[in-house]
Amino acid sequence: MVNPSPDIDIIWDWMKQVEDPEIPVLNVLDLGIVRSIAWSPEQVLEISITPTYSGCPAMKTIETDIGEILEENGITRYQIKTVLAPAWTTDWMSEEGRLKLHQVGIAPPVGVSADKGLLMGKIRTVRCPICGSEDTSMISQFGSTACKALYRCENCLEPFDHFKCI
Ligand SMILES: [Zn+2]
Repeated sequence: MVNPSPDIDIIWDWMKQVEDPEIPVLNVLDLGIVRSIAWSPEQVLEISITPTYSGCPAMKTIETDIGEILEENGITRYQIKTVLAPAWTTDWMSEEGRLKLHQVGIAPPVGVSADKGLLMGKIRTVRCPICGSEDTSMISQFGSTACKALYRCENCLEPFDHFKCI
């Protein structure tokens, strides 16, 4: 028997099954993009998500995946809303998410303050996820997907993806 209105805690737990299509080791909770989950007075489930990167094509996939998981669990009345403000920053990523990124050899985001430095013309240090060297350079703004940049380590000469920060 499917509970027609499961507890919000249970629904949060389901979100762990929704992978980031860009980086499948990360789920949407690791990314920190699920802002809120609530039942409306009319018993419609309302989920708010904030895109990681404006125009990121992955967001459409994430919405579809969330819908699929809800439907698999018998929830047919739901609404997924995109909330643009406040804007997502890499600071919203969970510690676990950062750790997972590191394990798959993607340099974790260096934090929003560092990116503001970049905007102001300062050079951001991206550490090589393979050898840990800070002697790295960006080869391309766009890595294997639009949301990542391609870097190369000048120490071990390995190319690696860096999850782009906003
Ligand atoms: Zn290296």
